[in-house]
Amino acid sequence: MGYEKPIPLKNQDNSPYWDAADRHELVLQKCESCHEYSHPPGPSCAKCGGTEMSWESLGSTVKGTIYSYIVSYRAFLPGFQNDLPLIIAIVQLEKVPQVKLIGNVRQCSPDEIEIGMNVKMVWEDLTDERALPQWIKA
Ligand SMILES: [Zn+2]
Repeated sequence: MGYEKPIPLKNQDNSPYWDAADRHELVLQKCESCHEYSHPPGPSCAKCGGTEMSWESLGSTVKGTIYSYIVSYRAFLPGFQNDLPLIIAIVQLEKVPQVKLIGNVRQCSPDEIEIGMNVKMVWEDLTDERALPQWIKA
């Protein structure tokens, strides 16, 4: 059986982010002009419009807290049936609290999840080459 779920597509703006994820590492785009982080990555800074963007690695130990979440009981795409209910959270990063990332919280029931819960990033290997960042309870 192959992997049935959609694999995130790399493009010019986000490929460093996904390349890092494939290495089980988190990188964030940062503006060279105003030094603000920019996520999700884009061609220019959302804050100042600057186009000199660089990438900063947060390494492979990434912690955060649940800022907000939803619980999905329906599969909107094929391949997700076995993941239900699926918890999709906005996670505030511990090292960079101004950045919030959206991701699935795995190995956690809807009864357990709560705002402020500590989580850490893990990477699910989708294929030999691609990996998807996810969160589990810290
Ligand atoms: Zn900027």
